[in-house]
Amino acid sequence: MTEHFTWGIVLDKKAIGEADGEYSIFTWDVGKVIARATSSRKTLSRLAGHLEPGTLAMIRIVRKNERGRFRMAEALSENKTKNPTVIKVFSLADSLIPLEQPDINIFAFLKNLVLNETQSEALACTSLLKLVGFDPKTAKCGVCGSEAIACFAVQDIMFLCAICQNKNFVKR
Ligand SMILES: [Zn+2]
Repeated sequence: MTEHFTWGIVLDKKAIGEADGEYSIFTWDVGKVIARATSSRKTLSRLAGHLEPGTLAMIRIVRKNERGRFRMAEALSENKTKNPTVIKVFSLADSLIPLEQPDINIFAFLKNLVLNETQSEALACTSLLKLVGFDPKTAKCGVCGSEAIACFAVQDIMFLCAICQNKNFVKR
């Protein structure tokens, strides 16, 4: 069994079935992990308040082996933000950050958002994109290659120019 007792920043959560919760957490030790808390162990009700998106918490996660699924064993929140901008940026972070790649800079960036909340959404998104390897300054449209970037398409994980962005909207 593998166990990690580590700082974690809760990026997102979703309900699984009627009683379980699945949490996406960026940890200091392991990078992003998906950890499940099940109500059958009575852990979910005890832990849920410490695992809202926007929370910096000390967590203990365990799994049977390297490829197994993490289970949430303990969580104790240290700081929390309910700032909707931060929650939005965290949701974007969740869709961009790959699993289990520890990164001190990403951790520091996310922690700073929990503690300070001072950045604008545009600034925070730009910093995040840079940290995960998409620099808007050197970016090109993922479809046509134009350097006149208009947006970042989260679903496709690519930048788009205004023309391709419009085409994309029409397509969907
Ligand atoms: Zn384009």
